[in-house]
Amino acid sequence: MLPETIKKFVARLFSGARSGPQRLPVEKHGIDRRQVSRHAIKVCEVLRQHGYEAYVVGGAVRDLIVGLQPKDFDVATNATPEQIKPLFRRARIIGRRFRLVHVVFGPEIIETSTFRAPSSEGAEHTDEHGRILRDNEFGTHAEDAARRDFTLNALYYDPLTEEVIDFHNGVADLKKRIVRMIGDPERRYREDPVRMLRAVRFAAKLSAEIEPATLAPIRRLAPLIEHVPASRLFDEALKLLTCGHAMDCLRKLREVGLHQDFLPLLDVVFNVPEGEHFVDLALARTDIRVRGGKPVSPSFLFAALLWKLVYQRWQALVEQGGHPTQTLLDAADSVLDEQSRKMAIQRRFIADIREIWFMQARFDRINARAIWRMLEQPRFRAAVDFLQLRAEAREVDSVMAQWWMDLANASPEERIAMVDAYQASQRGERAAGGAVRKRRRRRPRRQPGSGNVEAGSKE
Ligand code: ATP
Ligand code: MG
Repeated sequence: MLPETIKKFVARLFSGARSGPQRLPVEKHGIDRRQVSRHAIKVCEVLRQHGYEAYVVGGAVRDLIVGLQPKDFDVATNATPEQIKPLFRRARIIGRRFRLVHVVFGPEIIETSTFRAPSSEGAEHTDEHGRILRDNEFGTHAEDAARRDFTLNALYYDPLTEEVIDFHNGVADLKKRIVRMIGDPERRYREDPVRMLRAVRFAAKLSAEIEPATLAPIRRLAPLIEHVPASRLFDEALKLLTCGHAMDCLRKLREVGLHQDFLPLLDVVFNVPEGEHFVDLALARTDIRVRGGKPVSPSFLFAALLWKLVYQRWQALVEQGGHPTQTLLDAADSVLDEQSRKMAIQRRFIADIREIWFMQARFDRINARAIWRMLEQPRFRAAVDFLQLRAEAREVDSVMAQWWMDLANASPEERIAMVDAYQASQRGERAAGGAVRKRRRRRPRRQPGSGNVEAGSKE
């Protein structure tokens, strides 16, 4: 009796595999068609009218199934770029290695790509570590599913039938919150080491577990991250930090030993007194913004991530007798140099990060002229946000930080009134303070950054 049941079960398993993917109706996946971009639906409809297959694919399907708002909508089809392009009024073929089509609807772009085959193995396609260098062959629908990274990312939504087509049991994994690699995890990480970072990101974002076999090789293969081009690592770092669960991502990265070749300073930052707390505060604010659909600034993020280290080095240099402004420059450069040995932060962001940091030295040495000059700085707003963060971390006085925030939010007239009132209060202070105050004012004002440190939070 029992063996018969098992036989039947096994037969069903294999016949299932032979007869192709599961086609899951709405009750099994729960996607509400109204949540799907009408432009993505349009692209699928047009392709279908012309005799092609077309599905919404990847992150959008995954996110819709778990009730998250997708960032963007991609379409996969068996039509080639040359066949896709003429079907739409505004479409352009992009990409040199693998060509795909951007179908443009006002501000929304539907990235439409042809089913792709998994990369062929062999010396001409991979580097000596197995990393894929060429990946540009068209394939079948099943091949396209097999070359995707995790089962929960290999789902195809057909907006016409409202079915999800699932080759690798991805809906079940997604519902059980399991990040599972398609195929042999080690080989797939070697092909593209960024998949290790992606595993961590999806686990954090979906509150999921990385399945044991998918997790097992990561620690050992982590050094392969070194061979990934810096620009791609930077993009992935940003994705990690802006996925809405940034702190979880960082903790998981450290847990599995992935940060060493990527954000090596993370260990150092976390070991600086209050370092982890500061990053925690910064990322909590970022997560709230991301989940509220608001933009976040990459410069601000990296400025926050590395700040405690800069701060510590800056303080040390000042204690050795350095000039406050110059030592801040030196501390900033040393931290940025060290970080960029592993993962280069893009140049345009570096300029902003430095600007945000350097303005921190100017907030409490103010007279009216300096205030107006500060207001003209392009990164003034970000620097004030950063100051708020430092106040929240009890590094600077919160009343002072709030004053600057109010100033940033004020209308031009209100700003004039605020600066006037500030000047008047200073004059008043001076007049009322008499000789004692005057003498005190002439003393060296403070150590940089520590002048407003509240009692008990000295570092
Ligand atoms: P999100 O856009 O939320 O970051 P996503 O899953 O859409 O997540 P993308 O980078 O936009 O991620 O990629 C779209 C799809 O392409 C993925 O869902 C996955 O199927 C596939 N994919 C992306 N990167 C890889 C990779 N490195 N290896 C294999 N498949 C990948
Ligand atoms: Mg995506």
